[in-house]
Amino acid sequence: MTAAKTVAFSRDSTNLFFHILTRCNLNCRHCYINTAQHGKNTLPLSTINTWLEAFSDNSRSTNLIFLGGEPTLHPDLPAAVSHACRLGFASITIDTNGYLFNDILAQVEPAQVDYFSFSLDGATRQTNDTIRGRGSFETCLAGIRKAAAKGFATSMIYTVSRANIDELVLMEPLLISLGVRRFFIQVIGLRGRSAGGDSVAGGKEQLQVSKTRWLETIPGVARKIAGHGITVTYPKVYLNPTEKFECAGRVAKNYFVFPNGRVYRCPLCEDYPIHSLVFKNNRLVPAARLNETDFFKLNIAEGCVMNKLIQPDNLHYHKDGTPEYKIACCLLKEEIRL
Ligand code: SF4
Ligand code: SF4
Repeated sequence: MTAAKTVAFSRDSTNLFFHILTRCNLNCRHCYINTAQHGKNTLPLSTINTWLEAFSDNSRSTNLIFLGGEPTLHPDLPAAVSHACRLGFASITIDTNGYLFNDILAQVEPAQVDYFSFSLDGATRQTNDTIRGRGSFETCLAGIRKAAAKGFATSMIYTVSRANIDELVLMEPLLISLGVRRFFIQVIGLRGRSAGGDSVAGGKEQLQVSKTRWLETIPGVARKIAGHGITVTYPKVYLNPTEKFECAGRVAKNYFVFPNGRVYRCPLCEDYPIHSLVFKNNRLVPAARLNETDFFKLNIAEGCVMNKLIQPDNLHYHKDGTPEYKIACCLLKEEIRL
């Protein structure tokens, strides 16, 4: 039997999402990296290490995720992983598009890295490569197989949009054949390239999935996949009026670090200069107000303030003006496991 549970925000653990560079070899349609906001620099190893140390007071309860751009493009990623191991982080994950540059699988050990987390946005070459670029499907699958053969645990991230929601069900046999242990379903958000502008193929209207479609598709597919012993996680997105709304920015400890020194507590804020913390001279200090922390405090009937501000199309109202449902914090997840 599979068990579904809403993963409430943990007061006891911290998640550190560390973008060590913004450069990438791919050019995915929905990429959320915004170089106008986060720069184009690649952090030197000495800075990565110093910034890791800034978060190391509670390292034993901190999950560290190395991100980019494509983090394996950073030649010093193995050295950064070694330093993170020395600092004693609770877990270390490397997110990758599967190209696994700089022979990363030979430069780190399974004992050092808890998961390599691969991004795939379609169960077929055609759909994935339309979104992520030609050749990325085969390369990602080959990367997963190589990582598994070397004894690394693998997870997969699938960002659902109108372009690929029909193929989610086809991920079941693919995940099983690849031996993937965790499957993260994400929802396309209006960040980075998805937020609009000339560079977006399809535009926001065509990429975002409706509430009905999401609810009809995601929980069912997630349960089926979890039935094979794969832990499946997906964002809760919608709360009914009786469910309690909480903003992770107020009650949880998530840090999204960018190579220009900005540190956000909420991923929906990343397209704006409203980060709550910043590295100045390698010291982590509060950023100038107003910033995202001022938004986190606002109680509105619709739930998430940032959703109301940047994704108002997600909201629907009764005739009397009250919202039909609340939008959950984007960091609130449903987890399904055997
Ligand atoms: S692989 Fe990731 S960082 Fe690179 S373009 Fe795609 S979404 Fe952006
Ligand atoms: S997504 Fe909304 S609820 Fe979650 S941290 Fe951001 S502002 Fe708060």
